[in-house]
Amino acid sequence: MQAMVLKKSGSALEWTELADRQPGPGEIRVKVGACGVCRTDLHVVDSELPDPKMPIIPGHEIVGRIDAIGSGVEGLRIGERVGIPWLGHTCGSCPFCKGGQENLCDHPLFTGYTRDGGFATATIADARYAFPLGETGTDVALAPLLCAGLIGWRSLVIAGEGKNLGLYGFGAAAHIVAQVAKWQHRSVFAFTRPGDVSTQAFARRLGATWAGGSDELPPKALDAAIIFATVGDLIPLALKAVRKGGRVVCAGIHMSDIPSFPYQLLWEERQLVSVANLTRKDGIEFLRLAPEIGIVTKTTQYPLDQANRALADLRAGRFKGAAVLVP
Ligand SMILES: [Zn+2]
Ligand SMILES: [Zn+2]
Repeated sequence: MQAMVLKKSGSALEWTELADRQPGPGEIRVKVGACGVCRTDLHVVDSELPDPKMPIIPGHEIVGRIDAIGSGVEGLRIGERVGIPWLGHTCGSCPFCKGGQENLCDHPLFTGYTRDGGFATATIADARYAFPLGETGTDVALAPLLCAGLIGWRSLVIAGEGKNLGLYGFGAAAHIVAQVAKWQHRSVFAFTRPGDVSTQAFARRLGATWAGGSDELPPKALDAAIIFATVGDLIPLALKAVRKGGRVVCAGIHMSDIPSFPYQLLWEERQLVSVANLTRKDGIEFLRLAPEIGIVTKTTQYPLDQANRALADLRAGRFKGAAVLVP
């Protein structure tokens, strides 16, 4: 197999020839058809997350077909198309796993961070964390659903059922969430970098009621806001934009420091919460709904060996929607 491997934090990924691995008990081997590129991959490359596996193959929005099955795996077959998400393994025995919060497991493994991921021609996954995807849609179109879609979905559920929803940072996740929210008959208010009129136009094309800069206030108070951008300065701005009792959800795994702000912005039962990882239940719910909603992902394709260019383009905001690597 071949892979783009991060051998040292902060360095470029290297095209590497690796021995084919056989799946162990409970594992499957997946021939990768497409793998999305996520903001979190940048955090891994930049060493903004603690204790990564090193060297590591990044990538946690994997779509592919099972080509080998280890002992003890049930309910999956050779040739079946599956999605491998960020949550790669949980312990099943800690208080969080037992309490239905496996997203907060004390001993998890994360795909493309603490276990090898999908910037490769093949990957090994824990079979229990692979989602059957069926045959609707292309591998490339489905890849962004595996993280941007799933984390977006979890954030949307945690944001509550309010009608007026703000989305701060209109990248891969928000462009999917906007479509889900519209399907739920909500009004979407999209916030981009000030002056980024092309992304604001992109948001309007996807059904946003209003789009503007993050330094602006929306035309009406929001019931909830989700912050997808990794910028702590957005938190006071989002709190200012939500109504009394409204909720601000931080969806990113990493954020720059939050500036101090007057208590007045939190007063009147506004809530500030974060969303961490996903549960398998989130995945099953969302992937079942996605075809019904008719989500159309906007993707920019790169050959696998161009992973460094894809990461650089993501960092610079050079494309709309999501980048996807194809082996
Ligand atoms: Zn991700
Ligand atoms: Zn656990």
